[in-house]
Amino acid sequence: MEEVLDVVIVGAGPGGMTAGVYASRANLKVLILEKGFAGGQMMNTEEIENYPSYNKITGPQLSNLMLNHSIASGVIHQYGDVKSIEKLENGLFNINCGKSDFKAKTVILATGTNHLKLGADGELELSGRGISYCAVCDGGFYKNKELVVVGGGDSAVEEAIYLTRYASKVTVLVRGNKFKAQPILVDRLLNNDKVTVMYNTTVNRFVEQGSGFNKILSYLEINSDGQIFDFKVDGAFIYIGMKPNSGLVQDLVKLDGSGYVITDSSMKTSLAGLYAIGDVRNTPLRQIISACGDGSSATRSHITNILN
Ligand code: NAP
Repeated sequence: MEEVLDVVIVGAGPGGMTAGVYASRANLKVLILEKGFAGGQMMNTEEIENYPSYNKITGPQLSNLMLNHSIASGVIHQYGDVKSIEKLENGLFNINCGKSDFKAKTVILATGTNHLKLGADGELELSGRGISYCAVCDGGFYKNKELVVVGGGDSAVEEAIYLTRYASKVTVLVRGNKFKAQPILVDRLLNNDKVTVMYNTTVNRFVEQGSGFNKILSYLEINSDGQIFDFKVDGAFIYIGMKPNSGLVQDLVKLDGSGYVITDSSMKTSLAGLYAIGDVRNTPLRQIISACGDGSSATRSHITNILN
């Protein structure tokens, strides 16, 4: 007979791995499926300064520590690109990963979010050819080059500061007249000699030079305070927010207007047995620590349910 797992967690970010540790410590058989690297967005973060225990730790280091902890607790980690989640008539869930299927009593969705695109002309074509959404991945290509960062939230500010390690100049384009990011980060940005900020500035389009495999970003056409002009850059990093990876459950559970999964305070969704944790749910705070808290709440709630 096919094995039935107690818990399948989709996504090995901080929330998913915390849920795994809690579930495994409750003697539940738990599998985490992940299609990328364990750590989620942490893997794209250079320095983390707001996770208690570490004044400063790199994202990949914290990801590895969590992965090792999770494995040591007995969690099974497996590569899996989940294609569908279905609730069967017998109450079990079927999790399909293309050629393989898993059966589980409970599913915890921990799929996080993905970067939003600006939608400006040229953005898609020049993605990976001068336009990037990951400073940690691509920053090293821009030693002594001039960059722009688009956005005004925590991600844009943190990543703009990070990019000053490589770039000779970083111009941050903020669409309004103020930053959304935490003041401590904004102060740090504004005190960086390599950084210039342009407020009330939006990108109209990205323009290329070269063709075929040699096609790369040449300049941005921007609108700054109503004036339209060309802005020559070597690279552009876009951090304008995130969208939830909730497509897998969009027909199963209630989502809010922006596509985030609606949960109660114990991370239950509108479908019994399906939980959602971390950035993919409608939470007021999207941090590593809050994702971890969600993971522990979901598992605690699940354990309470099965004991009653
Ligand atoms: P965010 O907080 O939603 O900020 C998005 C920024 O992009 C805002 O400044 C927004 O402008 C701007 N924006 C949105 N659409 C735009 C457009 N079409 N053109 C130009 N600008 C646009 O997104 P985030 O910075 O990616 O952060 C996501 C979540 O992760 C947040 O909850 C954040 O606190 C968290 N986070 C935390 C940390 C940390 O604690 N160290 C680090 C990274 C992320 P407006 O302000 O005008 O709306």
